[in-house]
Amino acid sequence: AITSPGSAKRPLPSTRRAEKGRSMKPIAEILGKTSLDRGDLIRVLEADEGECGPLLARAAVVKRSGVGGRVYLRGLIEYSNICSKDCLYCGIRSGNAAASRYEMTEEETLAAARLALERRFGSIVIQAGERDDAQFVARMERILRRIRALGGGALHVTLSLGEQSPDTYRRWLDAGAHRYLLRIEASSPDLYRKLHPEDARHSQASRLEALGALREAGYQVGTGVMIGAPFQTAADLADDLLFFRDLDVDMIGMGPYIEHPDTPLYTHALELLPPRKRLELSLRMVALLRVMMPDINIAATTAMQAIDPEGRERAIRAGANVVMPNLTPARYRHDYLLYENKPCLDQEPEESVELLEARIRESGGSIAYGEWGDSGRFLARKS
Ligand code: SAH
Ligand code: SF4
Repeated sequence: AITSPGSAKRPLPSTRRAEKGRSMKPIAEILGKTSLDRGDLIRVLEADEGECGPLLARAAVVKRSGVGGRVYLRGLIEYSNICSKDCLYCGIRSGNAAASRYEMTEEETLAAARLALERRFGSIVIQAGERDDAQFVARMERILRRIRALGGGALHVTLSLGEQSPDTYRRWLDAGAHRYLLRIEASSPDLYRKLHPEDARHSQASRLEALGALREAGYQVGTGVMIGAPFQTAADLADDLLFFRDLDVDMIGMGPYIEHPDTPLYTHALELLPPRKRLELSLRMVALLRVMMPDINIAATTAMQAIDPEGRERAIRAGANVVMPNLTPARYRHDYLLYENKPCLDQEPEESVELLEARIRESGGSIAYGEWGDSGRFLARKS
């Protein structure tokens, strides 16, 4: 099996059309293998929708034994849309003068954390644009300490605040953070370059270094990619899955790429797969990853819900076990626009968990209230 991260540099395999002449292995036969290789993954990613029943069935079985049927909740706090970076896909990139910028106050952030406690979410995610100035680092440290004091440690905290120095990562961990989400966005160096400005602030090498520093510091480490992004091929996605496995990640958040009109990549909007197909491909990625990594946490992401109101529930059926209800105060939601058509913009933070619960039950799961839901992979590695 090709499993080195360097596999991303390999040339694309023959196209599907060329392969069609030869007989293609049935999906069920591929899934019976103990380890999926690059060719297997490409084959499944390129299969017709009608062929994928066995994949979903297999993912459901692996999920049951790997993480069980319980779904963990993380209250999502979109802390600020101020960002020093300029990623070509993102609506809150620093170059977008049309975005009106905000930063939540400490009190508002604490109130959101309190809401998570009251609703027995077990954990929260604090996400924001990337900033590494001393003031920001210190403010986040203070907020983390206050959140820990608030619940006497009852809430586990995931951060998603971009690339920081090893020292900053350590300070935030000491202040009470447990997990960190830093998507690699694209494991292929070529694709990464096409999605970001070509400068030192946007190098894939420093993102990889940051992932190493997070693991080193002791976080549960999560990463992920956008699916259906411009220029991306099935081979790139196969390499992304192998990258996750090689990195031995604890958690994954991945979802469809969704265009935003005020970004440079919008000029490629017409070349994209239709949204429904991007979601379908995202669900297939979730199912494949669940088969490959039975005990990690996989999120049903907001971008899935942006394409289909039932997107998150479909992700749970495909193998995801984490949902992130939005706890950002309503007045800020319109400004945290990473992409078009973000869902729930007008909802108050008290998103109806009852409704979510009913839908999760329909998807064959149940909500694990008040539990941290730490990554099984992480706990197993530690012990
Ligand atoms: N600034 C931090 C966290 C906020 S962005 C960071 O970049 O890590 C969180 C995630 O939103 C990114 O990792 C990216 O994968 C996703 N995102 C940004 N723009 C997007 C778009 N147009 N479509 C789908 N996801 C997008
Ligand atoms: Fe900033 Fe993150 Fe958006 Fe990049 S993806 S522009 S770092 S918020």
